[in-house]
Order: sequence, then structure tokens, then C-alpha cells
Amino acid sequence: MSNIIVYSGPMKCGKTQEILNEYKRQLISGKKVKMFKPKIDNRTIGLVQANSGIDIPAVEINRIQELENYNADVYCIDEFQLLKGSVETIQKMADQGKKFFIAGLNLTSEKKPFGKMSDILCIADEIHILKSICDNCKSEEGVYSYYKGGKDTDIVIGSKGYLSLCRDCYEELTHNDKLKKINCI
Ligand SMILES: [Zn+2]
Repeated sequence: MSNIIVYSGPMKCGKTQEILNEYKRQLISGKKVKMFKPKIDNRTIGLVQANSGIDIPAVEINRIQELENYNADVYCIDEFQLLKGSVETIQKMADQGKKFFIAGLNLTSEKKPFGKMSDILCIADEIHILKSICDNCKSEEGVYSYYKGGKDTDIVIGSKGYLSLCRDCYEELTHNDKLKKINCI
């Protein structure tokens, strides 16, 4: 049985949508489900919003340990890369039968592991790495998030100013500066 399921990948790959779908599925199956997000994500206070526009009320937390304060069967967590603390809490709760659906960016815009994502990927039972459509060449191979405003390794809020790029286009942008002009959303 999988108790820790992680959806990861670059910006705009649909990972939030995946946990929203699970949120609804688990509710239908009669489970007590709660949605969580980091306090720092101020796109929509208290809501998790997929790009498709569906809103789900979310509890805002700073640290992973705070999950223990909330009683549920299923815990859905968005933007996991921005949470502080230790994933041991999730491992312990999963061992006790709690189920987790987690979405988060695997890499910063400088292609480094993002926050606690490497830790959660190590203890996950199931990992789904999703790809996006490359904002430059429109291939389905988008694997990197690139911040147009320069370095931004710590905070990602929404997708404004970010591009999702394939490996080739990321290389072009960072080393050769030959990208076509892109209108960022
Ligand atoms: Zn590309």
C-alpha cells in the first residue's frame, strides 16, 4: 500500500492538479481529507488553486511537524518545497496508516534540489515526475523552471515570471542567450 505519493516536476507540469484530483477522490471515498500549503505562498491566501481555476480551502503551515496538530486520514500538501522541518513526521504518520499526496517543485531555477523535496522523494512509496510543455520550443519535455528575473532559489510564488523549459532551451537561455522572445504569463 502506498501511503506517501509525491508529484513533482517543473512549474506548470500539473502537479497541483494531481493532488486536487486526489483530494476529491478521497473525499468521495468517505475519508477525512485536509489540504495544506506553506504560509509563504501568498498567491491565494488559504486556498490551493490549480491553473484550471478550482479552489480548495487549505490550512497554512510553516513546518512539516505542524501536520501532527491536524486529525485526518489523508493529507494533501501543495508547494511542499517551501516547508521547513523534518520529513520524519510524515514517515511516522504514514507508518501509522495516514496517507499523503504531496506536490512540489523538485528543482530551483538553478537546477538544485529544492528544500525538503529530496528528503520526501527518498521516503516516498510512489513518485510521479511530470513534464511541462516547454515555453520556448513547445516540446513536451519541460523539466526545468527558469526565473526570468534573475536568481531566485528560495521563494517561488505562483508562476509569474517563471518559464518552464526543456533541457536544450534551458542551455540556450543560460549559456547562449539565443532564446526566442517569450511572453511570460
Ligand atoms: Zn524547449
